Formats: sequence, structure tokens, C-alpha cells
Amino acid sequence: MADSFDVIVIGGGPAGYPAAIRAGQNKLSVACIDQWRNRDGSYAFGGTCLNAGCIPSKALLESSELYVRAREEFAAHGIKVADVGFDVAQMQKRKAGIVKTSTQGITALFKASGVTALQGHGKLLPGRRVQFTAADGTQRELTAKHVILASGSAPAELKVAPFKAPHIIDSWGALDLPSVPKRLGVIGAGVIGLELGSVWRRLGSEVTVLEALPDFLAIADQQLAKEAARHFKKQGLDIRLGAKVSAAKVSGDAVEVSYEDAQGTHSLTVDRLIVAAGRRPFTADLLADGTGVTLDDRGFIQVDEHCRTAAEGVWAVGDCVRGPMLAHKGKEEGVMVADLIAGHYGEVNYKAIPSVIYTAPEIAWVGLTEEQVKSSGRPYKVGVFPFLASGRARAMEQAQGFAKIIAAQDDDEILGVHIIGPMAGELIAEAVLAMEFSASSEDLQRTIHAHPTLSEALHEAALAADKRAIDSINR
Ligand code: FAD
Ligand code: NAD
Repeated sequence: MADSFDVIVIGGGPAGYPAAIRAGQNKLSVACIDQWRNRDGSYAFGGTCLNAGCIPSKALLESSELYVRAREEFAAHGIKVADVGFDVAQMQKRKAGIVKTSTQGITALFKASGVTALQGHGKLLPGRRVQFTAADGTQRELTAKHVILASGSAPAELKVAPFKAPHIIDSWGALDLPSVPKRLGVIGAGVIGLELGSVWRRLGSEVTVLEALPDFLAIADQQLAKEAARHFKKQGLDIRLGAKVSAAKVSGDAVEVSYEDAQGTHSLTVDRLIVAAGRRPFTADLLADGTGVTLDDRGFIQVDEHCRTAAEGVWAVGDCVRGPMLAHKGKEEGVMVADLIAGHYGEVNYKAIPSVIYTAPEIAWVGLTEEQVKSSGRPYKVGVFPFLASGRARAMEQAQGFAKIIAAQDDDEILGVHIIGPMAGELIAEAVLAMEFSASSEDLQRTIHAHPTLSEALHEAALAADKRAIDSINR
């Protein structure tokens, strides 16, 4: 095997592996080094997303949601199912199978695009040299014209609630629970808290979510956040806002949690506690002295808008750099960098990155919230269409939530789209495309949407922005 490459990628998650594949497609010689090891000690490409994040969480969300629908919705459809039950071991087995197929797929994709796959640890040395340490401890020095750092992120640990498996666990532990805890505590009502809290709530856990901030889903449009809070409450998720955890300790087979809110100090006893209080960039033993790569005060690798670090020929992408910690954001950055290295055009439109929370109802948005538009001072108009008025949503027994469009009053440009409802994560793609093309709400109004589809909700929301909705009352 060669010791010198055009490109070496350190990290084979959703930011690193697409960078390597695109570099291969661009006819560059490329190696991708990844150190991810599963609990059985086996190596696997795909990083957090495929092994312990996006994919396994969506597998369990799907299984648990189907269980709830069979239990609560089938009767309305006239379907009689006796004794609806579930088998956590089978759910976990299915999840593991999906993860394995996905991660093995990367190895096949690497082969097809000529990427040299190296499983082990990578460390950047000065002068674009990379020290590779294999599983057996043997070391080799590799050199590259360009190095792409894609080392990802790790769960943030709280001093007041240090991880202590199997009782105080991170999201990976929460995805691997072998049975349903009777009482489940979650620190953080962010994306992970809501998704994993939903999985175990649907399967019967009493779930209490402690969120330090006073507002629910503060990053989202607040009309959408209010609607979401209403649904989660109805589902039995006990979300306590303004709750600052001061201590959590394992006592016997339970966890004693203390927290403070405006009313004073409280205690809570749970069987398992998930800490989902954000993630931090992961750069442990990644950079030798003298590489010239710099970190900011929160530990992110510093990059410009094209993901160039301060060191010539060294780039960084994904969760280890600024911006939302999302797989698709990392993927676009990885591909952009591999194209720029090959002398092609490359750019990431950071204003049109969709966010999706895979709860039920699903939540998705792109662009600015109404609060952000209001504070910008730009006059705007809003169109909202409830899924209750969608024939398709009613036929699906999923007529909850709404689609909302915010457009500029002056030139009608779409500034933000916020959807809570069935398949919101799929529906948002149309809004992302519209914003990518700087579409106006009139462009959406004049676009024919098939009937009856959920996507008509977006069409009608665009019409509602000009009080021209057909299928709902204009307010
Ligand atoms: P990672 O996926 O963390 O990959 C980095 C890789 O680099 C890892 O394999 C790591 O082992 C390896 N590495 C690090 N240092 C070295 C080194 N020195 N040498 C060799 N290898 C190294 N995002 C979404 O967009 N949608 C979702 O639905 C979603 N769901 C999530 C659910 C959960 C429970 C979690 C935890 C996260 C979820 N995310 C989701 C976030 C998503 O997983 C991350 O944004 C994404 O994985 C970041 O990709 P990355 O390639 O930058 O980093
Ligand atoms: P997050 O930032 O989404 O939420 C963390 C929450 O914890 C915040 O609301 C924060 O206020 C709260 N918090 C922080 N410290 C606390 C404390 N001491 N006590 C109580 N609450 C506290 O982070 P996350 O949910 O851990 O997810 C990590 C990252 O993974 C996110 O950036 C997210 O984008 C990504 N992710 C994405 C998806 C998705 O796209 N569907 C799913 C899961 C994770």
C-alpha cells in the first residue's frame, strides 16, 4: 500500500466518508482512517450517525411508533388486532441489522471509488504528515497533499451527572437499553431528549425530561414549539422547564436526581438517566504540536466558510467545526472540500440547512423563525395551513399540526418554513429547494401539487400568506 496520497481523511462518519468518496470520484488518490469500534470491538465506518446516532435512533423510533399506531389507531381504521405487544430484543436485533447493512455499505462504496480504507487511529503531524496506528499497535507515517479532519463529536458529560453505566447513560447507551425502564429520566429537552424520550415513552416508560432553559425548543419557531409541547404532553412526556440539575447519583439500582427550578429544590428517582445535554467537538489525540491547526474556545477546529483551517492544505468538516451538528451539514462540507481540492466549484449554503426532529408528529424547518424575522425588522407575512384541513392527512389518521411559511412583505422571498405534522421531514425538502432557488411564496402558490398529498399543505400555506388559501379559512 502507498504511503503517500493526494488526500487523507481522518474520520469516516457522514462528513468524512463522503469527502473520501468524492475525492475518489475526482480521480484523487485517497485514504480514509477511522477508529470507530463497536461494543464487540469490531471496527465500523459511518461514525456516530450510522453506528450510534441517526440510523439506530430512526430504527427504534419507527418500531415504537408502529407499536403505538397499532395499539391506538388501528381501531379507527376498522382493523382489529388482538393483544398488541412488543419484543424489545427483536426491535434491537432489527436495529442492529440495519446498522450493520449501512456500515458495510460504506466499505463497498469505498472499494467502488478507489478509497483506501484504514481502520485505526489517525494523528496529524506538522507538514501534512499523518501518523496511522493500526489495531495491533503498529504505526506508519503517511503523507498527503491535503488532509481533511472529520473527527466528529462526543456526548457532553455533566459534572453534576457523570456517566455511570448502566444507570447514567449517554445517547448510545439509551439506544441499546435491553428492556424498558419503568422510570426514565432525561437531562435535556433537545433533539436527542425528545427522540429517545419518545421511543421509551411509547414502550411504556414514565419519562421525565429536565430542561434547564425556561422556553421549550428555544431554537425552533415558537408557534411550532407550542404545538409540539401540546402533543408531547398528551403523549405523557413530562417535560419540566427551567429545571437545573444539581446532582445525580446512583443509589442501589436507581438514580437519585436533584434539580432546582423557580419553585425551589426537587428530587426525582428514576431507574435510568439519559444525559442528552448536547455534544462537544471530539479532537482527542488528533493534532500533534506544531500542525498550525487552531481550536476556538469551545474546542471546535477553526475554519473559514470553505472549511480551510489555519494550516495550509488542512481542512476540517462536520461536527468538529462550527455550525449545526447534523449529518447532512457534514456531508455537504465534506463533498465541498473534496471538490475544491480537485479544483472544482464547491459551496455550502448555510442558510438552507434543514432541521428535522423525528418525533410524532414530526417537526421540520428551514430558514428563519418568525421570532428571528420579527427581530430583523423586515416586514413579513405568514401563511399557516393546518393538516386537519388536508384530505390526505385525515385519510392517514394523521391530521395533526400545520405547515407555516414566512415570506418577506416587500419582495415575497420565502424566509422560513416550519412544519409539524405527518412526514414533515420529507415535506421540508420542497421548502429547502425553494429557498435554494430564492423562490417567492408566489412561486410555490403557482406550482401544481398532486391531490391528495401532504405536500398540498405547503402549497396552501403559501397561498395563505396572501390570504388566498382555498382549503382553509384565511385569517
Ligand atoms: P462522527 O459521525 O462523530 O464521525 C467521526 C468519526 O471519526 C468517528 O467514527 C470517530 O471514531 C472517528 N475519529 C475521530 N477521531 C479520530 C482519529 N483521530 N482517528 C481516526 N478516527 C477518528 N444528525 C442528523 O442529521 N439527523 C439525525 O437524525 C441525527 N440523529 C442523531 C441521533 C443521535 C442519538 C445522535 C447522537 C446524533 C444524531 N445526529 C443526527 C447527529 C449526527 O450523528 C452527527 O451530526 C454526525 O454523525 C456528524 O458527523 P461527523 O462525520 O462530523 O462525525
Ligand atoms: P441539543 O443541543 O439539541 O439539546 C440539549 C438540551 O439540553 C438543550 O435544550 C439544553 O438547554 C439542555 N441542557 C444543557 N445542559 C443542561 C443541564 N445541565 N440541565 C438541563 N438541561 C440542559 O443537544 P442533544 O439533544 O444532546 O443533541 C446533540 C446534537 O446531536 C444536536 O446538535 C443535534 O442537532 C444532533 N442530533 C440531531 C438529530 C436530528 O437531526 N434529528 C437527532 C439527535 C441529535
